[in-house]
Amino acid sequence: MKNWDEQLDLLIRARAPLIWIRSNEEERLEALLEKVAERLKPRRIATWDYIDGLKGVINSEGLGARQPMAVLQWLQKLDSNSPTILLLKDFHRFCEDAGIARMLKNLSGQLRQQPHTIILCSGSWSSTNDLDEALTVLDLPLPKEKELRTLLSNIAKATGQTLEQNVLEELSHACSGLSEIRVRQVAARALAQRGKIGREDLIEILEEKRQSIAKSEVLEYCATKSTTDDIGGLDALKAWLDQRHQAFSDEARKFGLPLPRGVLLVGPQGTGKSLTAKAIAHSWSMPLLRLDVGRLFAGLVGASEARTRETIQRAEAMAPCVLWIDEIDKGFGGDARSDGGTSQRVLANVLTWMAEKNSAVFVVATANGVERLPGELLRKGRFDEIFMLELPSAQERISILKLHVRQRRPHLNLPLNTVLDRTEGFSGAELEQTVIEAMHLAFAERRELQETDLILAASQLVPLSRTAKEQLNSLKEWASSGRARPASLKVNESINLF
Ligand code: ADP
Repeated sequence: MKNWDEQLDLLIRARAPLIWIRSNEEERLEALLEKVAERLKPRRIATWDYIDGLKGVINSEGLGARQPMAVLQWLQKLDSNSPTILLLKDFHRFCEDAGIARMLKNLSGQLRQQPHTIILCSGSWSSTNDLDEALTVLDLPLPKEKELRTLLSNIAKATGQTLEQNVLEELSHACSGLSEIRVRQVAARALAQRGKIGREDLIEILEEKRQSIAKSEVLEYCATKSTTDDIGGLDALKAWLDQRHQAFSDEARKFGLPLPRGVLLVGPQGTGKSLTAKAIAHSWSMPLLRLDVGRLFAGLVGASEARTRETIQRAEAMAPCVLWIDEIDKGFGGDARSDGGTSQRVLANVLTWMAEKNSAVFVVATANGVERLPGELLRKGRFDEIFMLELPSAQERISILKLHVRQRRPHLNLPLNTVLDRTEGFSGAELEQTVIEAMHLAFAERRELQETDLILAASQLVPLSRTAKEQLNSLKEWASSGRARPASLKVNESINLF
C-alpha cells in the first residue's frame, strides 16, 4: 500500500475535489500540507477558519471571516492559474446547512475540471450522507517514528539542546502511539520542570500513553501479573502460545514467518479465557489493551465506525501489544435489523483490519458461547487458531486446585484425591472458589486448611455445568465438529504441534 503522502498527492493530482482528512491534529495536518504544496508545485496552501477567514492568499487575507459561504464563492471564481489547496477548518459544522451542502456539491463537480482541492479536517463527522458521493475520506495516521524523531530533535534544538542518537531513538520509540500534540505537551512539561528533555521523560511518556488509552472510551489498559505458570492445564494452548511468541522475533521475520495475528478462545465461563489473555501479555512483556465491544456501539449512530477506526489506530500505535476483545460473541452478535446494520459494518471493519494487518498487534478474542458467534470470524485467515477450552479434566483439576492452594498457602501440601472426585464438572473459576470457601472455613476456626474443608466447600457449590447443561452440550457439539482445536491435551497425549 502507498504511504499516506503518496495517497494524498495522488488524490490531489487526480483532482478529487473534496477530501475529508479524518484527524483532530489540525496543526500537524497544516504542516504536512505545506510539504504537499512543495511537492506539487505550483499549488499553494490556503486555510480558512470561521474567526480569521482566509489565510495564505495575498490580497484576500481575512476574506470570508464568519461567512463560510463567501469562502466557497471565492474558490468558485478562482482562476485556474493559481492552483490552490484550501484547508477548511471545522467546516463539517457548516455542512448541516442546506445552502452550504448544495454549494459544496456544485463545487465538487466544477473542481473536477480545475486544479483546486478542498480539504476538510475533523476527527469525526456523522452526517456525511448528503455529501458521501463527492467526498474522499483519508485517515491521517498517528505520527510514525521518523516523524517523531524529527519532532523531538526539533524541540530539543529549539531549546539549544542536542539529543544523543540513542536517547532520541528511545524517546521516539516510546512516543509511538501518541499524537503530535501530546508529544509536544510531554516535552513542554519536561522543559518547564528541568529545562531539557531526556531519558528521564520515558516514564512520563508511558504514563501519557496510559492516559491516552484511558481517554479512549473503548480501550482499557490492563495491568496484569498473571503468567502462563498461573494457568492449570490447557497444555496444548500453552505450548502453542510459546511457539507463537517466538514468531515475533526479528529472527522469525528473517526466516520468512509472518507476524502472528491472534487467537480465538471459546469455552464456558470460568475456564480461564481471560486469565490466558492476561498471561499472554505478561509473559510476552507486551501491554494488554482490553477492548470493550459494547462501548464501540454506544452513543450516536454512525459514531461506531469512527470509534472503531480510532481504536484500531490506537492499538496499532501501541504495537507490539495484545488486544483483548472480550466476549466478542456478545458484541458482534447484534441483530442487523435492530441496529441498522451497525454491528455488521463494525465487524466487517475489524475483520478487514485483522486480515490485512501487518503490525505486531496480537488479537486475543474470547467467547463464552457459539450461538451468536458471527460465522465470518471463524473463516481461515482471521485468527491463527481457534481453541476450545473445555471444563478441566481430572488431571487438570488437580493442577488447578494445587495452584490455587499454593498461591494462598505456599507451604501446604494437601492430599487432593477425594476433592477431585467431588469436583467433576467444575470450571477453573469454581475450583478457585472452592479453595477460597475452604479457607474461610479453616480461618473461622483459626486453623490450617484441611482436605475436609475443600470437600465441604465443593459439596456446597453448584457448578454451572449442572445448571447450564444445554449450553455446554451445544459448545461440545460445535467443538467436536472440528472447527476448534482442544486447548487441553488428552490423557497421555504428548505435545505435538506439528
Ligand atoms: P473466563 O474468562 O473463561 O470466563 P477467567 O479466566 O475469568 O474465565 O477465570 C476466572 C478465574 O478463575 C481466573 O482468574 C483464575 O483465578 C481461575 N481460573 C480459571 N481457569 C483457570 C485455570 N485453567 N487455571 C488456573 N486458574 C483458573
